[in-house]
Amino acid sequence: MNIQQIRSDFPILSRTVYGKPLVYLDNGATTQKPRCVVESIADEYYSVNANVHRGVHFLSQQATELHEGSRETVRRFINARSTNEIVFTRGTTESINLLASSFGEAFMQEGDEVILSVMEHHSNIVPWQLLALRKGIRLRVVPMNDRGELLTDQYEQLFNDRTRIVGITQVSNVLGTVNPVGKMIATAHAHNVPVVIDAAQSIPHIPVDVQQLDADFLVFSAHKVYGPTGVGVLYGKEAWLDRLPPYQGGGEMIQHVSFEHTTFNELPFKFEAGTPDYIGTTGLAKALDYVTAIGMDNIAAYEHGLTNYAMRRLREIPGMRIFGEAAEKGSVISFLVGNIHHFDMGTLLDRLGIAVRTGHHCAQPLMQRLGIEGTVRASFALYNTREEVDALVAGIERVSQMF
Ligand code: PMP
Repeated sequence: MNIQQIRSDFPILSRTVYGKPLVYLDNGATTQKPRCVVESIADEYYSVNANVHRGVHFLSQQATELHEGSRETVRRFINARSTNEIVFTRGTTESINLLASSFGEAFMQEGDEVILSVMEHHSNIVPWQLLALRKGIRLRVVPMNDRGELLTDQYEQLFNDRTRIVGITQVSNVLGTVNPVGKMIATAHAHNVPVVIDAAQSIPHIPVDVQQLDADFLVFSAHKVYGPTGVGVLYGKEAWLDRLPPYQGGGEMIQHVSFEHTTFNELPFKFEAGTPDYIGTTGLAKALDYVTAIGMDNIAAYEHGLTNYAMRRLREIPGMRIFGEAAEKGSVISFLVGNIHHFDMGTLLDRLGIAVRTGHHCAQPLMQRLGIEGTVRASFALYNTREEVDALVAGIERVSQMF
């Protein structure tokens, strides 16, 4: 991988912050965008823009071809069997809300159970809690050890005849843990229970193959994989999506409407009410083409080396406490240093041009398990370098000396 060449594809990386070169280590929150993604958005607005699907005119047909071509790009990227299994949403959060609402409606009764892990993002907790309030279902939680690895034996013991669905993140946005989701799916299937994989933090970093995983549902956001904001994906096996009721009503999701009765469109349109972000889906497809051209295996290997280097360097800092020491770890490092509050560390690093995230990272139950309020989080992407890790380490050391 030619990192300098890659960095030149991301204009924002060459800007300064407070007169210092930007060191952008907040990729878990959102990634920066390569020129090809931004240009595809401008180009489509300038030269193709028209609403998709129902138009007979040239532009509408061209916009529809681009939009449906993007669906095919997503299908290929995650190796789904059919584009019928690719539902466009606004992001991971909306994908899970859609699923919790529609799956809950069709398949869950009072007293039924959902299994989640202790390291889920709020987006994979609260939609199920809303369902719990509506339907009286129970949440069961897979615990973890102190290294941040899920206890798979205990996971298996959570299944009973009321278990209806499992929701697990593939990579923790706080600990970086890469969970053994393939095995966890096999366990769930042995109990005839489907699984939704939150791939928000895995899709940008490791190859994801829904058929190999045998995932029933899988969700992710475009903006975390170098694509635009406001677009996401819900993958679902066709057999499951066919059995779920629509989530929102409106245009495109119908076949025929009368005041007496409405019939719904076929997949995937049944779940896509209203004008989709057809410009954003083109941006997502460009982003997926971009990482595919570099190679997801190459990206995974490069980031693995970078994360190992960062772990080694950070451990040298006196008072360093790292949260998440799993054997399988992605490119996210959460830490605290001595008694320095995470906000203070983040604010002072910012003054040095280093962007990190601080706080609970939308994973308050995990913070409770760790017995802390928050962490400082550095999260890497394919354009980060060892020099930037060195800048982070030097920055932390400088802040430490001030306390
Ligand atoms: N799940 C995980 C694991 C995440 O890291 C995030 C984003 N921080 C989300 C879900 C929510 O993604 P979005 O805000 O794009 O819907």
